[in-house]
Amino acid sequence: MNLHEYQAKELFERAGIPIVPGIVATTPAEVRAAAQKIGGTVVIKAQVHSGGRGKAGGVKLANTPEEAEEKARAILALTIQGLPVRKVLVTSAVDIASETYAAILVDRAVKKPILMLSAAGGVDIEEVAHTNPGAILKLPIDLTTGLLPWQARAAMGKIGKSGKEALAMADILVRLYRVFWDEDASMAEINPLVITKDGKALALDAKVSIDDNALFRHDDLEAMRDIADETSGSILARERGLSYVPLEGDIGCIVNGAGLAMATMDLVKYYGGQPANFLDIGGSSNPEKVVAALKIITGDSTVKAILFNIFGGITRCDDVARGILTALDQLTIGVPLVIRLTGTNEELARKILAEKGLTATTSMDDAVKAVIAASQGGAR
Ligand code: GDP
Ligand code: MN
Repeated sequence: MNLHEYQAKELFERAGIPIVPGIVATTPAEVRAAAQKIGGTVVIKAQVHSGGRGKAGGVKLANTPEEAEEKARAILALTIQGLPVRKVLVTSAVDIASETYAAILVDRAVKKPILMLSAAGGVDIEEVAHTNPGAILKLPIDLTTGLLPWQARAAMGKIGKSGKEALAMADILVRLYRVFWDEDASMAEINPLVITKDGKALALDAKVSIDDNALFRHDDLEAMRDIADETSGSILARERGLSYVPLEGDIGCIVNGAGLAMATMDLVKYYGGQPANFLDIGGSSNPEKVVAALKIITGDSTVKAILFNIFGGITRCDDVARGILTALDQLTIGVPLVIRLTGTNEELARKILAEKGLTATTSMDDAVKAVIAASQGGAR
């Protein structure tokens, strides 16, 4: 679960990381009042779960409350990476002397959290990673000790920072690791970590993602969930207990079991297709789950064809077939549907599907090839 900048900054503040206090607003008039209250030049920042807000016009400076209102009107009308801006954060503007990139995140390759640090902060870090990977320091962190102050100071030295400003930033890194660890985050990022013209270290931006599997022990964080920024599919999946991960492709996949879902996605790729999602309806025999799954998939307008891949064990194929028919009664599915089912009660399932003129194959290869052809406008 991603936190908004203003929420992540609350965590930072509690951990003693210096931030610029701000006011959250939802209308241009509120922004004007906030700017009035703060006084001087302010920054207005879109609060959406997306990076690159600056580049998208979602971060703007304003010198007067009138200007703030005007800029806020423009920002609140934006949609950034598909997410409409509903809230902005208004803070006092800072005079920046330098911008550093700092993040703690899980590195799957080293199976540890790492500290990522770069003197090329502020700009797109993905761009830096691409064009100048040497400019990014990656330091694995020992899980038993955490990030130790001397390690943070040494890391600062390695990116060319020295003096009391480096010490202040190192202190922020140690606290950032504490936030990452205590809140069960998968990522905690400050970009930019700035030194101001008057020599203070500050977290000017804040990005924190919490591991969903740990949310049960963080009621305060669960309360920060912003449903407005989730797609209806993700919300429905969470409510119905389905594991759903949207991807970039156009073939919707509905599968029972995580392993089979992974294998299905591999096979779709193998035959030249692109999966639109990972979706595991689980091992239960509940037609309602099938209906929910189809609702989720059909809600994604990029999907050009849907593949059901069911291996009946505990899951009964007839229940899945009933679920498909119920869903067809409730929904209009404007794309081809390819069904593969085999295992428990498969004959009965086939009979049920035949009532509506649907057929199913038992071969996973055939089904995957068929769904790819269907997605390209070929035979069903
Ligand atoms: P992001 O684009 O979503 O990462 O949003 P950021 O909060 O990182 O803001 C983008 C950029 O706007 C920063 O890298 C700064 O260069 C600039 N910016 C943000 N806040 C201030 C501020 O208080 N003063 C000045 N001068 N620039 C700021
Ligand atoms: Mn940023």
